[in-house]
Amino acid sequence: MDAALTRDRNFIGGRWVDGSGAARLTSTNPASGEVLGVVPDSGPQDVDRAVRAAAEAWPRWRATPAPRRAEILFRAAELLVARKEDLARLMTQEMGKILAETRGDVQEAIDMTYFIAGEGRRLHGYTTPSEMPRKAAYCVRAPIGVVGIITPWNFPMAIPSWKIVPALVCGNTVVFKPAPETPLVATAFVAVLEEAGLPPGVVNLVAGGDQAGAALVDHPGVALVSFTGSTDVGLQVAARCAARGVRISLEMGGKNAAIVLDDADLDLVADALTWSAFGTTGQRCTACSRILVTPRTHTGVVERLAGRAAKLRVGNGLDAVTEMGPLVSAAQRARVEQYVAIGRGEGTRVVIGGERVAPAGFEGGFFYAPTVLDDVRPHMRVAQEEIFGPVVGVIRCATLDEAIEVTNGVRYGLSASVFTRDVSAAMRAIEEIRTGIVYVNHGTIGAEVHLPFGGTRHTGNGHREGGLQALDVFSEWKSVYIDYSGRLQRAQIDRE
Ligand code: NAD
Repeated sequence: MDAALTRDRNFIGGRWVDGSGAARLTSTNPASGEVLGVVPDSGPQDVDRAVRAAAEAWPRWRATPAPRRAEILFRAAELLVARKEDLARLMTQEMGKILAETRGDVQEAIDMTYFIAGEGRRLHGYTTPSEMPRKAAYCVRAPIGVVGIITPWNFPMAIPSWKIVPALVCGNTVVFKPAPETPLVATAFVAVLEEAGLPPGVVNLVAGGDQAGAALVDHPGVALVSFTGSTDVGLQVAARCAARGVRISLEMGGKNAAIVLDDADLDLVADALTWSAFGTTGQRCTACSRILVTPRTHTGVVERLAGRAAKLRVGNGLDAVTEMGPLVSAAQRARVEQYVAIGRGEGTRVVIGGERVAPAGFEGGFFYAPTVLDDVRPHMRVAQEEIFGPVVGVIRCATLDEAIEVTNGVRYGLSASVFTRDVSAAMRAIEEIRTGIVYVNHGTIGAEVHLPFGGTRHTGNGHREGGLQALDVFSEWKSVYIDYSGRLQRAQIDRE
């Protein structure tokens, strides 16, 4: 691990500082168990310091012209480009996904930072005619205040960048509480922002677990919470924000389905769904977790997918030949094992996988075999609940209508895909599937930063990250009327 990239402290008011208490969090490599570093396990006092620093920095930052704010962000993007390989290696060590994917994670942060920094010279509002003579009307985006940012471990740089960068370009200041599994990647990202030249207090980092997250959510100085994580935690956080009238943006779980129709190219399906179900060891909010096949595509899909899964090289993500790394933690592997046991109990058939793997030299890592369950029925728990591991269930559907109904028949609504060469079937699926993202002839992963990202129903609360829509989370509209007529003009009333 490159120690020069990371820090073992919180970042508050422009300084790297120790936690106020003695509690510490240990970051470990899930492939090897190696200890990578130790950071503060922050408590409410640390959160309070950080929120105060962010509040103090806000007036100057919001008064800094947006193009100047963006210049700092462009520099951050350049630093990320220069350090991409080192950051990717650090990330693979800290959370396990393979190097190709951690390079992609850093690249996503780079793309997001360049894209949103470009908004520093736009941040468009609009002007519009007034209904009165000699009166100007326009609207502008205004910053909100101190933003509390809470993130998971599966995209430990991309997800923080989706939140922190738009929050900053809009003129907010930030307190960032990363996942307890990936504190070092978080410190590396914040160190880049520091080096790029952000003024003290504009971004603050408190490492810690759920308690630090809860303290941030409950802090009276926080004006907006942006949360990505599980649906159960997200809904609790939302309830607490609602009680205090605090704005909240939520990105939560998924139970993503891919529909394979009769005319699909089954080799493409196998390639796409191997990547979609087993990439990041299935630990993506957009991971394909249900494959909906027709009677004609069932055997072809199951055989091809099992063939691909059998050949996937599971091992240490730093090794260039590895195609699937470990799960992030013992707890995450136990969760996957429990769901496979539930699936067996519900009557599904384990076609392949369903057991731990112990790659040579990494026997202590949290590895699990890519797993395909057949004979899954839509009502089963393995078809309804987010597993968040390398497990995909195959469900038979007689028609496209039934497949759309099954796709929509879960509490989540993040992403879905349909494989077909029939344009009418594809268009119907696009129209009737109730998810925030739909793919055609592609798995359920592969979002690009300049389009809105997020989900319907229990995946989110109506906000979107990515795209220009991200700006709507981190700013609010101010409408301005300038009457230069020199007399009282009453809208709606003075119509002559
Ligand atoms: P999690 O909900 O356990 O934790 C997420 C974050 O919330 C962590 O930083 C955690 O410390 C914090 N937290 C936990 N309890 C809290 C509380 N009471 N108050 C405030 N903060 C609290 O999720 P996880 O295991 O880190 O991540 C996996 C989940 O994230 C999956 O459900 C996955 O689908 C979801 N996810 C969603 C998206 C998306 O964009 N929709 C992207 C990635 C991951």
